[in-house]
Amino acid sequence: MQAQVNAIRRLSDYEGIVDPEILDEAARLGKRLQGLTVTHINSTRQGGGVAELLSSLIPLFNDLGLKTSWQVIEGPSEFFKVTKMFHNALQGLPAHVTSEMFELYRRVTQENARRLDLSADVVFVHDYQPLALVEQRAKDSIWIWRCHVDLSRSIPKVWLSRPEKSVWEMLSPYVEQYEGAIFSMAEFAQNLPIPQHIIPPAIDPLSEKNCALSSEEIERVLCQLGIPRDRKVFLQVSRFDRFKDPVGVIQAYQIFKRRTRLLQKTCLVLAGGGADDDPEGAEVLAEVRARAARDPDIFILERPPTSHHEINALQRGADIVLQKSIREGFGLVVAEALWKKKPVVASAAGGIKLQILDGLTGLLANSVEELADRLEYLLEHPKVGERLGQTGYKHVKQNFLIPRQLRDYLRVLADRLT
Ligand code: UDP
Repeated sequence: MQAQVNAIRRLSDYEGIVDPEILDEAARLGKRLQGLTVTHINSTRQGGGVAELLSSLIPLFNDLGLKTSWQVIEGPSEFFKVTKMFHNALQGLPAHVTSEMFELYRRVTQENARRLDLSADVVFVHDYQPLALVEQRAKDSIWIWRCHVDLSRSIPKVWLSRPEKSVWEMLSPYVEQYEGAIFSMAEFAQNLPIPQHIIPPAIDPLSEKNCALSSEEIERVLCQLGIPRDRKVFLQVSRFDRFKDPVGVIQAYQIFKRRTRLLQKTCLVLAGGGADDDPEGAEVLAEVRARAARDPDIFILERPPTSHHEINALQRGADIVLQKSIREGFGLVVAEALWKKKPVVASAAGGIKLQILDGLTGLLANSVEELADRLEYLLEHPKVGERLGQTGYKHVKQNFLIPRQLRDYLRVLADRLT
């Protein structure tokens, strides 16, 4: 199935926002690669970071003359339950994948291979759901696996372990059939016989999610969403997923409220939605609602994955943004908040560490108690929050805007093809 992309965007639209050297290099590489056919394949059109990235990236590939499409695999709900289990296992939760489950994975992959157009010169396959399509590759095409999950081997919490070995052992023979693999940070790289590239993701400063909004519009949206306007707002935006630890955010907030000597009134907003390829969202949302039930200062907003404008306004209207992930491939939401010059308090998980340089571009917190401390500190020291937000913005501007990611992908292709 062909997926929808953002409004037509050109690389030149980023002039004045992104470092001209990056734009020049991307344009130069694009000229060398013009005419190439490229397809990106993932497992959801909307919801989650991969869909967010592709909707901004694909128009830019096309603008440079690479004929680029976006295709999405389909499957029954049981298939996505199995792939979510892969996801959990790769990020360190125990999993028991049976041979029947693996058989289903292979069968749905074959059905998708029959439906999709796999004839492009270059095929980027995103994550583990469409990974096994590589078995059906056309001769002479180049297949690159783009991994977005946190495959780090560190153990951040007692209930997590290293990536589940049996699942990685099932999946890595597919990875080995690719020409190369792209990871978001060096600590996710694996022992593989193919070239591995490190490319962190990036946000689109021109998208509906990140474009500038007037203060009136921000107020209007927050009022419409029922967020009290006489209080400081703490916000976490995330799919309702255990790795984003929404329950931990609530615990931290409640510790903060019990402890705080401040008279300022606050509220916590947890905004999230689902993704077509994530079947666990409803269960986690129910846990979150139960945990927040008796706290009138907590607002749970379940929004459809197309609510980019509302999320933009929420991020801009928030006083402090939180991201208490336990594992994180990158965490676009962190870059989105920094781009909006917000003070961010986040855990030192996966790709968040590329974005939050502790004390410089935000604050790291590794437990609910630390998170509560940091909230109290930032409320007491608003100037520090302002400075963190400013530096965070510069960090994102230099490193995590979409033309840089485009350039990095083109470098990989140029190395292979010219
Ligand atoms: N997002 C959204 N609505 C939601 C939750 C998330 O629009 O209710 C967006 C969020 O703004 C970000 C992306 O989905 O652009 C999530 O990407 P991230 O890398 O943070 O996490 P992922 O969901 O991919 O694990």
